[in-house]
Amino acid sequence: MPMRSLPRICRSLADTLAELLWPTCCIGCGYPDELLCERCRTDLPWIAQRWACPDCGAPFGWLTCTECAHEWELRATVCAWTFGDAAARTVTAFKDHHELRLAPVIAAALATTLDEASSWPARDGRPRYDPGGLDALAFVPATAGAYARRGYDHMELVARELAHETGLPLADILVRSSVRDQRGLSREERAANLEGSIYALEDLSDLRILLIDDVITTGASLREGARALLSRGAAAVTACALCRVW
Ligand SMILES: [Zn+2]
Ligand SMILES: [Zn+2]
Repeated sequence: MPMRSLPRICRSLADTLAELLWPTCCIGCGYPDELLCERCRTDLPWIAQRWACPDCGAPFGWLTCTECAHEWELRATVCAWTFGDAAARTVTAFKDHHELRLAPVIAAALATTLDEASSWPARDGRPRYDPGGLDALAFVPATAGAYARRGYDHMELVARELAHETGLPLADILVRSSVRDQRGLSREERAANLEGSIYALEDLSDLRILLIDDVITTGASLREGARALLSRGAAAVTACALCRVW
């Protein structure tokens, strides 16, 4: 047996053993063999892009948005689901319960919603998602503390899958310094807490970036990431997030 086959066989045995001990089942309904079954995937609270705010991705606010007053730095923001029970369970399983097999499932949800958003205009009149008008894919990074705690950056895993799906090159260029926990802070406190906490490692002269994140609550992290990209010369930033707290 060639030696290089050994790690693969060990991995396969470990997977088989893990499947026997903790069988795969749907996060939504417990149905066996799938992480997110077809029915639960369909039943998730998908945001209809037709009515969504093109600037912050809120499920409503196409004409007037009380969430962002159409003042965000993003060229457009597209969100897949409102942050309800099933969406929260999916995010928690991925981020905190180490269910890394959800990375391609989440990337597929982002790709689906981006595809829908390509039919609806941003404020500049162009499609909210315009693959031909993008040069690279970036992600809002985890804090150093979260990375150390989990051992992985969950959005990097999604970004790698989405880069593969969209053909956009992955730009792993944002770095995040540790900040006070955002939970319990007001909208203004969150923004002040994050100011200057995300920065880009390289100049991005005139690149048009797709920036992804997991959950938009007030948008403070996403906007801080966009500002970091724009301050290093990015021409425009389009955002896509899995969930929108609403
Ligand atoms: Zn299910
Ligand atoms: Zn808005």
